[in-house]
Amino acid sequence: MSKSILIIYTGGTVGMIDSGNGTLLPFDIKNLLVSIPELSKFNFPIESISAFEKPLDSSNIGPDEWKMIGKAVADNYEKYSGFVVLHGSDTMAYTASALSFMFDGLSKPVIFTGSQLPIGLLRSDAKENILTSIELASMHDAKGNAVFPEVCVYFENSLFRANRTIKANAENFDAFMSPNFPALAEVGVHFKLNESLVHKSTTPFSFRDKLSQDVALLKVFPGFSAKVFQSVFDNQYLRGLVLETYGTGNIPQEKHLLAGLNQLAARGVHVLVVTQCIKGRVELGRYATSEDLRKMEVHSGHDITSVAAVTKMMHVMGNYSSKADVDTRLQQSLRGEMTMV
Ligand code: ASP
Repeated sequence: MSKSILIIYTGGTVGMIDSGNGTLLPFDIKNLLVSIPELSKFNFPIESISAFEKPLDSSNIGPDEWKMIGKAVADNYEKYSGFVVLHGSDTMAYTASALSFMFDGLSKPVIFTGSQLPIGLLRSDAKENILTSIELASMHDAKGNAVFPEVCVYFENSLFRANRTIKANAENFDAFMSPNFPALAEVGVHFKLNESLVHKSTTPFSFRDKLSQDVALLKVFPGFSAKVFQSVFDNQYLRGLVLETYGTGNIPQEKHLLAGLNQLAARGVHVLVVTQCIKGRVELGRYATSEDLRKMEVHSGHDITSVAAVTKMMHVMGNYSSKADVDTRLQQSLRGEMTMV
């Protein structure tokens, strides 16, 4: 297929321009060429659309908007060879991770990017991030296949698998990290491509937009009182819990906490254990303090991020109702989001 890119604008800092009196306002995507005249130098068509009626700060983007962004890609999937999504950086890792699960059989790149400084400012990182994302999204191999047929995040010289990313810096240009998985590409004077790491699907493309929001994320901390958190354990809507544990999956040996977790397991609530460390993985049973969890009916999230764990649960529980179907998928890496050992 010949190269053509669709830019999908959702809002965030990346689209902010000076209104003329010093206030920053979202730009009109129709004026993208005014902000980045270099776009006309690409020798293939680049078109753009807005995902929403009004641009959104990404703090206001959630499951409803993920579906709209996903639909914009799915509706245009046959027409373009790649997609670049302009998105606020605050929740970009959530949106991009969610979409990595919602799309199956992706054979085209969907690259999320944004910026730390508005496009309308002189020192903005927006222009470089957008231009390089377009270049990466349009890369094809000798057979004409996309080099990065995944949902990715590109920020400040690195292309990452989306469901491995976290926003790790609120002020530096390199705002994103992929703590447990190498970058798919590093961009300097040359492009260094790690093509052997790219997740490739063989199934036909599909977009599943069902999501369950009956999910909670609970982080243990010293002094954590299960009595205080009893309302979470008692919550009748809860179907899935991501439990952020210490180190390799350790929790305080606190009887109310253990009783609460047992109560969830007995009710068939899915518990996915992740580490609150930025880097590393869960190894249940390595210490006595994770032995109780190992014996319970919980799933190890291995080296998955909390961001990917929450969005994966939403996707899996939205699409499958039987406990066995959900369990099977939580135990597998669906889109390269965790490394099993
Ligand atoms: N608050 C902004 C947003 O996430 C920050 C950014 O775009 O970087 O929409």
